[in-house]
Amino acid sequence: MDSCIGVEQDLDKAISKFNGLQEHTNKCLEDIIQQIEELKKEIANQPSDSALSQEQAAAVSELATSVKQNVFQLSTDHRDLHATVSRVGKSIDRHFIADYASVAPKAESFLSETNRPIMEQAIAQHLYRQGLEEAGDALVAEAGLGPVERTCTFAALQRCAGALADGDPAPALAWARQHAPQLGHSPLPFTLHRMQALKLGREAGVGAAIEYARREFPAHAARHERALQAAVCALAWCAQGSPPPPHNYRHLLDPKALGAEAAEMFIREACALLRLAPLSPLAGAVLAGARVLPALHDIRAKMTHPHVVAAWSDEDLPLEVTLTFMPHLHSRTSREARREARCEVELGEEGGGYHSVFACPILRQQASEQNPPMRLLCGHVISRDALNKLAMGVKLKCPYCPMEQSPSEARQIYFS
Ligand SMILES: [Zn+2]
Repeated sequence: MDSCIGVEQDLDKAISKFNGLQEHTNKCLEDIIQQIEELKKEIANQPSDSALSQEQAAAVSELATSVKQNVFQLSTDHRDLHATVSRVGKSIDRHFIADYASVAPKAESFLSETNRPIMEQAIAQHLYRQGLEEAGDALVAEAGLGPVERTCTFAALQRCAGALADGDPAPALAWARQHAPQLGHSPLPFTLHRMQALKLGREAGVGAAIEYARREFPAHAARHERALQAAVCALAWCAQGSPPPPHNYRHLLDPKALGAEAAEMFIREACALLRLAPLSPLAGAVLAGARVLPALHDIRAKMTHPHVVAAWSDEDLPLEVTLTFMPHLHSRTSREARREARCEVELGEEGGGYHSVFACPILRQQASEQNPPMRLLCGHVISRDALNKLAMGVKLKCPYCPMEQSPSEARQIYFS
């Protein structure tokens, strides 16, 4: 936040200088124009073939000199302005850390024989999911990628959403019809029918819209009574040449706003129904990475503290660590500190739902099919190997809360 305030101060300085110069420049130019206009008028009043009087000639040359001087001054001021603007750039460099290299994966790690195809597939998949099929095809062809699922479900959804944003609800309506039984409690079908009715009202006349509404609206009357009434009333302003609609119907009669809203709802509802993540794996990874990066950078900075260096000889960044564990480090062994040093970085609503690979907090090993994560009765999760090691016959004491339980009560956790 301090960084933002610092840059803002420099930016304010630049803006006020810019505004001051603009005012000054405009005033100078107006003065010059006025003087020229006056002189022009005076000369124009003379007969066309008469020579200029001595005073007039002097006035012309005086004015020319003054114009030259003014233009020179203005261009000097303008040059100074560049210096102020470039100071803002330097201020940004000074206030923000540009070097995330110590915590970000190295670019070369994407170029290895194993990772490169995965990365390219992820990019192609992302392009298809965004509905950018031509760009996806070009990438697949030029990079010589293996088959990438081209007509993936999300691409089809994206096409429907795109049509909605362009004001055409037909593809989305066809999709909703196919999934009608699962959309029983969703506001989506009504939203789409309402959009279609209003579109008909604009394009085919109010009669056609009312006919459509009679056919499609009754099924939604109970759940969307008020919205339905508003939509029918809005039809009154659909006809060409109607007076401007009252404020509360304006939104319904704005096809762009209605389309954008329907597109957003469509993607949300369809993804929920098909249990799809609304973001592509690549977009999700980028979003999560961007959120986590500042925290990792802070951790990396703290890791260089002499106490921490002594306790932690690993080169790897302990991703599970938060800064809150730092005070304990002085008095505890590194192993104890590691146990305490677990946290999650909040990814927020849109970035939520992603989880890292599970690493056992006891054995510090990544979970695998042979050694899956196990949820204890108390809710704590450890790996199966750790569970077997900690179990004493039919008894197990949770290493976090001292709850006693039977090892057989632990349940395996599946990440899907
Ligand atoms: Zn426990």
